[in-house]
Amino acid sequence: MQVALLTILAIILSTNAQAQTRSLPDITIRTDQLRPSMVKLCSPPLLSRTLASWRPNLKAALLRIREGAYGVDRAFDITVVPKSECKSLAEHACFGKPDGTVFCNEAVLARVLYSAAALAGARVMGAMRRANAGTQSGNLWANELRATDSAEFGPMEAFGLIDAEEEDATLLGVRAPGELTKLQQRLRLLERAYGPRGREVGEIAMAGAGGVREIDTNPSVLKTLSRDEALVFDVMLHIYRAGVDQALAFVLGHELAHAHGGCAAKAKALAPVENRVRQFIELQLEERLFCPNPPSPSEINADRCGLVALRAMNDYWQRRERLTSIGWLIKPGFQDLGNRLAIDLLGIMIVGGLGDATQKYYLPDSRPGRIDYWPKLKENEGYLYSALRLLLATEVLHIQSHSAAEGVRACGTTAQRVMEGLLRATLGCKRELSLQETGSALEKMNLPLAPGAIGVFTGSRFDTRCYR
Ligand SMILES: [Zn+2]
Repeated sequence: MQVALLTILAIILSTNAQAQTRSLPDITIRTDQLRPSMVKLCSPPLLSRTLASWRPNLKAALLRIREGAYGVDRAFDITVVPKSECKSLAEHACFGKPDGTVFCNEAVLARVLYSAAALAGARVMGAMRRANAGTQSGNLWANELRATDSAEFGPMEAFGLIDAEEEDATLLGVRAPGELTKLQQRLRLLERAYGPRGREVGEIAMAGAGGVREIDTNPSVLKTLSRDEALVFDVMLHIYRAGVDQALAFVLGHELAHAHGGCAAKAKALAPVENRVRQFIELQLEERLFCPNPPSPSEINADRCGLVALRAMNDYWQRRERLTSIGWLIKPGFQDLGNRLAIDLLGIMIVGGLGDATQKYYLPDSRPGRIDYWPKLKENEGYLYSALRLLLATEVLHIQSHSAAEGVRACGTTAQRVMEGLLRATLGCKRELSLQETGSALEKMNLPLAPGAIGVFTGSRFDTRCYR
């Protein structure tokens, strides 16, 4: 009797779990039912000079997201408040509350913008270098996307350099004469890891970022440059904006869903992505692949809305690129560089926990591609595992990019982060599948991820390249 009762109870419980995952509720909502919302940029009392210079760019990015992903009728207001008003922000990049407020950490977002510009700079200069060297055949941008698989300059390096420069600005004047500055030390580490090119690419990236920062808020500067220079900076600017806008659209879209009390983003959810959400919820409810970690409906819906905002921003950038003055450069592969940048930025923001100011990002000091220090991964209760959240955002961009979808996946150090996240989700609990079986199951899921990355589980060669 007792056994039968337990069986019935188990069936009821599992039916509930199934019902919860099989049919996701509609996330669109009548716009007149949404709470009016306000994004409050929390400004620390002492923002370093380096980061403070990105303030106008941050405002510009938020305005583009408002226009591109929300439109006027569903918009939010933006205001700057002292950090003392943002107690609940704690260690997050942004944090949304059901009273209509979203708090965002101004310093954290400024670092993301600066890093995005440095990465855009490094990638465009890399493409130009190959074009000038005559080693270039076929599509310039598709080739650059392929080259980023083994690039000298990745997101970890970008964040490391930004940290170093920020510290220099803070410590300016208190350093002993003759001492190497932090920035110089980081550049030397790049040189040691990647050879002389590493340092050079680092310096080019920082210079490129300076140009992007200026042109982003004052496009008339382009007219003062030679035609070739203007073209190069225009391309950098496009990649930077597409990367930043899409990465922030997902993060902000999630928090705004909490604040609005519904999803105000103006695109439609993509059916394959919704299926993926369902699949991931199931993985977190059962004890098969991962440690069970039941997600909360409000966090799931906030993520779904973030994914819709991301899609809306992708549509916006696809429309914009058809209108741009640099038409001849806009070939398949160009926008994909912006998409890949967005994925890499989200890799840091979501999986790395960028909001925690005590976390530092270090450069590899040995062979390229090997990172010797990983920031602590954080998992929040009620959320999907951070690696799964990143894969969802990646899936949106992967599906939307038609030309070079092979490279619009989690690749390189971002793939490494995803695998570390997935591995951690299997530790410290009893599960049905062995690591090897988990790897096989993940392989069958056809995730938007470097195919060889699954090797972490299966014991085959671990490879984070997306192009083979
Ligand atoms: Zn949330």
